[in-house]
Amino acid sequence: MRTPLVAANWKMNGSREFAEQFFAAFDMSGVGCQVVVCPPFPYLPLVADKVGSGVSVGAQNLSQEASGAYTGEVSAAMLLDWGVDYAIVGHSERRSLYGESSELVAQKFVAAQSAGLIPILCVGETLAERESGRTLEVIAAQLQAVTDVAEGDIWAHAVIAYEPVWAIGTGKTATPEQAQEVHRFIRERLGEAGAPVRILYGGSVKAGNAEALFAQADIDGALVGGASLDAEEFARICRAA
Ligand code: PGA
Repeated sequence: MRTPLVAANWKMNGSREFAEQFFAAFDMSGVGCQVVVCPPFPYLPLVADKVGSGVSVGAQNLSQEASGAYTGEVSAAMLLDWGVDYAIVGHSERRSLYGESSELVAQKFVAAQSAGLIPILCVGETLAERESGRTLEVIAAQLQAVTDVAEGDIWAHAVIAYEPVWAIGTGKTATPEQAQEVHRFIRERLGEAGAPVRILYGGSVKAGNAEALFAQADIDGALVGGASLDAEEFARICRAA
């Protein structure tokens, strides 16, 4: 019922040359899932030009504002103008390094969705939160911040990524069972609207651990950081979905 989705989050990595080489090496054969590539802002048009059928372009962030005196910001409408389909909101690096609160993340979610982009909403707990038994409470609050401000059938055009902060870029993946527990919790929390929503797992996903994660009932794909910089490895992860 849910088409699996694998998204590449290049973070602040790459160059024009890197993007060219990535798509020269990225082989879609045997890939049955939907693929989204999220490069840094300046490379969005280049990636939008490169992607063929089955691959979409995503931004890693956007402004919650529509236009105006917001130096350094990029709006949802500008992203759409460049052929962007998705926008990551609430990545833990934005939350922790740039002080983005759950309320701001919710505003970005609304800005993306009302302009016609599909938000990829990231949620996840820190190690301290997990160790103190607060994982589900933290995830619930991050979801609640969005449902408090977004209106209508919001989950029909959104993707959620569960990314435990302690698993991002650390080489420590959540076990498939740990991830599944949170994915199921998220789906149940959304009620009836939850059934069709793609819930991705993110945090040190590699070709070697993707299959076991994707075998879980509520894991519908992945948001991939480090391993998405290698076109061959990223293709292997896509094939596993
Ligand atoms: P990672 O990053 O795959 O390098 O752990 C995932 C992410 O931050 O989206």
